[in-house]
Amino acid sequence: MRAIHRSKHLSRKLLNASPHTRRSSTVAASSTKPLTSVLIANRGEIALRVGRTASEFGIRTTTLYTDPDARSQHALSSPFAVNLGEPSAYLDGDRIIQIAKEQGCQGIHPGYGFLSENPTFARKCTEAGLTFIGPPWKAIEAMGSKSESKDIMIAAGVPCIPGYHGSNQDPEHLKDEAAKIGYPVLLKAVKGGGGKGMRIVNRPEEFFDQLNSAKSEARNSFGDEVMLVEKYITTPRHIEVQVFADSHGNCVALGERDCSIQRRHQKILEESPAPHLKEEIRQDIWEKARAAALAVKYEGAGTVEFIFDNDTGEFFFMEMNTRLQVEHPVTEMVTGEDLVRWQLIVAEGGKLPLTQQEIEQRIAERGAAIEARIYAENPDMNFIPDSGLLLHLKKPTPSDTVRIDAGFVAGDEVSSHYDPMIAKLIVQGPTREAAIQKLRAALEEYEVAGPITNIEFLKKICVSPDFIAGDVETGYIQKHHDELFTPEPPAPEIYAQAALGLALQEIAASNGDPFASPPVTAAGFGTGYQQRGYNIVEIPADGKSTGSSTAVQIRQTGPSTFDATVDGNTYPSVTASFSPSSNTITAFYPHTRLASTFIRDGDRLTLFTQGKQHRLQLSLPKWAEKALGVKDVTNSVLAPMPCKVLRVEVKGGDEVGKDQPLVVIESMKMETVIRSPHDGVIGRVVHGVGDIVKAGTALVEFRDEAEK
Ligand code: ADP
Ligand code: ADP
Ligand code: MG
Repeated sequence: MRAIHRSKHLSRKLLNASPHTRRSSTVAASSTKPLTSVLIANRGEIALRVGRTASEFGIRTTTLYTDPDARSQHALSSPFAVNLGEPSAYLDGDRIIQIAKEQGCQGIHPGYGFLSENPTFARKCTEAGLTFIGPPWKAIEAMGSKSESKDIMIAAGVPCIPGYHGSNQDPEHLKDEAAKIGYPVLLKAVKGGGGKGMRIVNRPEEFFDQLNSAKSEARNSFGDEVMLVEKYITTPRHIEVQVFADSHGNCVALGERDCSIQRRHQKILEESPAPHLKEEIRQDIWEKARAAALAVKYEGAGTVEFIFDNDTGEFFFMEMNTRLQVEHPVTEMVTGEDLVRWQLIVAEGGKLPLTQQEIEQRIAERGAAIEARIYAENPDMNFIPDSGLLLHLKKPTPSDTVRIDAGFVAGDEVSSHYDPMIAKLIVQGPTREAAIQKLRAALEEYEVAGPITNIEFLKKICVSPDFIAGDVETGYIQKHHDELFTPEPPAPEIYAQAALGLALQEIAASNGDPFASPPVTAAGFGTGYQQRGYNIVEIPADGKSTGSSTAVQIRQTGPSTFDATVDGNTYPSVTASFSPSSNTITAFYPHTRLASTFIRDGDRLTLFTQGKQHRLQLSLPKWAEKALGVKDVTNSVLAPMPCKVLRVEVKGGDEVGKDQPLVVIESMKMETVIRSPHDGVIGRVVHGVGDIVKAGTALVEFRDEAEK
């Protein structure tokens, strides 16, 4: 990897020289539309992030919220907050423009997603006399279609992936084009985004199936099913360039980002600079990105995405995102600039604060940065989104080199109406290796209880040798599947910690003072020393329970000492205390001290110990299950997340095979096919098309063996 030397002295000097001083001089000279009040047409972390910079400049912000977002952080962040009502109202452009006018705003910042790449909205803003803080609507329109943008790029001399992006949508014709390109091919919705409406076709036999499935997803997500076909690059990297242009003809590249670590064609780790990229290719890719922006008379922040062929070293234009990206903080870390501030400067008619040469110097000095997207999702169940109440949330300590952009605090709800991203964690280091190490450490400090998250998975990537070596590609996760998905069962001490947590928390509660401080010890165990027993199971991440539980006995032997017995093995004389204010159980075992954050939600227990999360559940002892007649309900297929039923593929009486599609559901704009877990006969379809169902609700019931 490229050696990066960091000069504290110089970067400090550059930092001081830039934002404020330059802004006032450039803007004063050429400003046409000063912004004093801006409406933020977005939600979550991006709404907060935009608000932060706006406030720094004394720009008043108005935020919007919907019913499910009424108590959310972005809604609370400004004294000016307007309720839009129903969950989808963030897409109601006309209403938002109306509100901006009523609120006396001069500009609208669209963030990312939602209306950010909607040319009609941008045009209407302009027509209403509002500054759209983004590119001119014509540039959005030109880049909004993956097919039209390809034509423009080819004309501008920017290399494009071989493929067909014409208007003939006859399935037979598309298939002929696929044959010409040569398999494997990729089908893409020309209006697509967020990894949706995309399917790989490996063989001609599966062409029509994949085409229908891509079209259906595109229709649901973008209301348009026009497809393009292109060569599928088998070992690609995703490399993109952050560009910025002003209305005075200046256009710069603020370095590149490698976003190859993806699931479902969606990024989860992004870094800058791209590892192992030859300097001449780096310069060339920046140059092509600038050419792409200039070709559409771009203004403001944009990202030109390229697919880089690891086998040949060639790169091709993929698309241009005409907005601020989710991963823009990576670029802010390596350039020391605030890109929202740049957006405001450009929107006001000012000049770009730095030249290309100045940017290059910054990048050479500031090392490497990497971002991890923290999602409420389950990597072990094909990254299925999760939602629900955030019972506990502890973030790493922020610093100059550790940044957290979050939209939630403990007690907030991750709503199934929106994207399940909880936060972004961005770190910087003098080298890539140092940045990765810091990321791992910060992830170990990150505690989230409630919905399942990808944090444990991200930690595994941080220690994955090929990732550390910089050998990345978009198929990284599939390729390293075994390494990344090896289960790590909890050590016996974790069960002991859980049982001690339960026992001491029960004591604290029975003391009548659940917030007792200093730490509660066994003093309140009642008269005489007691013994308590628990049966605890690990919650299987992949939803497949092994059914075996661990028996733990806690026997009090002194005022704050216990014998903890896990599956028959005893840790004698463990001194333990529980602090209700920090939810921490601290225990001194004969061989080690362990401190765990302990969160109990009914029968569910979440522990964070030595930087690792364990999810456990209290279970009834076997004899009690028998006595109570608890019945196994494996006979129905449950909704894995809150969702809407899109299609039902079976009916009562149907004989189905293992993995046969049963129901197609939609959650957070994503389609998921629910497949049969085994061979069997359908008894009853519980929910029909259009039903909204909660996680854990039965979708389809199988007929009992006996009834067959
Ligand atoms: P980036 O390239 O910045 O990672 P993505 O393409 O992943 O951006 O999308 C950014 C955000 O916008 C994500 O939250 C994604 O869910 C959302 N998004 C992208 N395209 C659409 C769309 N057409 N409709 C709704 N949301 C979208
Ligand atoms: P979106 O608008 O959803 O972001 P993109 O066109 O940017 O769609 O592609 C998203 C991801 O899909 C890329 O980052 C890459 O991983 C993969 N991809 C796109 N085009 C190709 C291709 N021709 N060959 C292989 N992978 C591709
Ligand atoms: Mg993209």
